[in-house]
Amino acid sequence: MSIGKIIDAGQLIKRDRRHIWHPYTQHGIEPDPIPILRAKNASLFDAEGREILDLISSWWTSIHGHSHEQLNNALAEQSCHLPHVMFAGFTHPPAVELTEALLDVLPTGLEKVFYSDNGSTAVEIALKIAYQFWRNEGETSRNIFLTFDGGYHGDTLGAMSVSRGSGFFNLFEDLMCAVKTVPFAETWEGDSEAETRETLALEALASVMKEERGRIAALIIEPMMQGAGGFRFCRPEFLRAVSDMARGENILVIFDEVATGFGRTGKMFACEHAGVTPDIICLAKGLAGGYLPLAVTVAGDGLYKAFLNESFEKALAHGHTFTANPLACAVAIRSLALFEEEKTFERIEAIERQHRLVLSDLTGRSDIARARLLGTVLACNLAGEAGAYKSGASLFLKEWYLAHGLNIRPLGPVVYLMPPYCITAAELQRAYDGLFEGLDALSLAN
Ligand SMILES: *Cc1c(COP(=O)(O)O)cnc(C)c1O
Repeated sequence: MSIGKIIDAGQLIKRDRRHIWHPYTQHGIEPDPIPILRAKNASLFDAEGREILDLISSWWTSIHGHSHEQLNNALAEQSCHLPHVMFAGFTHPPAVELTEALLDVLPTGLEKVFYSDNGSTAVEIALKIAYQFWRNEGETSRNIFLTFDGGYHGDTLGAMSVSRGSGFFNLFEDLMCAVKTVPFAETWEGDSEAETRETLALEALASVMKEERGRIAALIIEPMMQGAGGFRFCRPEFLRAVSDMARGENILVIFDEVATGFGRTGKMFACEHAGVTPDIICLAKGLAGGYLPLAVTVAGDGLYKAFLNESFEKALAHGHTFTANPLACAVAIRSLALFEEEKTFERIEAIERQHRLVLSDLTGRSDIARARLLGTVLACNLAGEAGAYKSGASLFLKEWYLAHGLNIRPLGPVVYLMPPYCITAAELQRAYDGLFEGLDALSLAN
C-alpha cells in the first residue's frame, strides 16, 4: 500500500513534541510517541513498516479491525452525500437507520436515543437526564449519584464525579457533584469468596440507600466489567442484586456500556449476562467500529415522556455540535451489520476459547494473581503490585511489549488483552507468547 509520500519519522516526532500535548501522558518522563502510518486488521504499522499487534484495539474501539473494506466504503460513500448537518431541527437517513438498528439489538424497553460523540458525554447526558427527570417530576431533593469503587465513566466533570472511585481524579474533588461510592464485588478465576464479597458489598449498598433515602437520583455502574479502574469483573448475580435494590428504592439505573458494548464481554451488551435492562444505557467506543467519535445515551420511554411539555424549561438542554454526525452514523450502521455478515460472535467465542486455554498458564505463575476472563478480555494482576497507574512495572512492560511488536499497555498492576475480533489464532498465540516473555523479562529486571 502506498502512503503517498515518504515520512521522516524523526522529523514528525520532533514536530509533535514541539506543540502537541498528548492524553494521559507525563511529558516530563515518557518516551517519544510512535508514528503510525497505517493499520490493517489487528495490526498497526510504524514509519519503518514494523508491525505492532494492537492487543487493546486502540483504546478498545476497533472491534472488527482496522481499515475494514466495508467500513471504508461506507465512510467514503456517505461523504459524497452528506458529511454533516446540524441535528437540532434537522435529521438524516444515517441517524434514523442507525437508531432503528441499535434498538433492534438493545434490550426492549430502551427506546429513545440521544446522540453525542464520546463516552464521557454519553455519561454526562445520562446523569443530566436522571437528575432533570426527578426535577421535572417535582422531586427536587434527589441530588446524589451512587457509584462504585473502581468505577470509571470518563474525564469530564460530571463523569469524573461518578468516577471518583477510580482514584484518577482525587485532585478535582472540590469540583465534583454529590456522589456516594459503594464497594464493587469483584471476582476472578478460582475465587472462592465471591459470595461473601457480594454480601458485604450489598450490605454497604443497602445502608447507603437507607441513609440517603429520597436523595439518590441514580446509580451508575459498568455492568460485569469495570474497565479503566482495573478490569475488575463481577458475577451476574451481583449486577442483578444491585439493580433490584435500586429499583426497590425508586433509584434510576444507568449502565455504562461504553467499554463493554458491542460484543466485548461475549454478549452484544454486558447487561445480557444478567438479564437486566437499565433505565439508561451509555454506548460509545466500539459504536462506530473504531473509526469516528460517536456515542449514544439510550433511555426508556417513561423518562423521555417526563421531558415533554409546553415550555422549553422541561426539555433537555443539551447538544453537541457534531451530534449524530452522518459519517459516523453511516460507519456505525455498517459496523452493526458486520456482526451478522461476518458471524462476529463466532469469532468472539473462538477468542474466548483460546483465552481459556492460557488462563491456567497464567494462574500457575507465582508473579501473577487474580487471572480472569470474560468474553474477549483476558486480564490479570502483577502479584504484590499495589501499583499506581503509571508504576515502574507498568511502564517497563509497556515499553517491552512495544519493542517486541505488541501493543499491550498495562493499567497500573493490571495486564490485559482486548483484541479486535478479527485477530487470527496465530496472532493471538503470538500475543500470549509475548505476554509471558514480557512477564519473565520483568521478573529478571526486578
Ligand atoms: C472510556 C470510557 C468512558 C469515556 O469515554 P471517552 O470516549 O474516552 O470519553 C466512559 N465509560 C467507560 C466505561 C469507558 O470505558
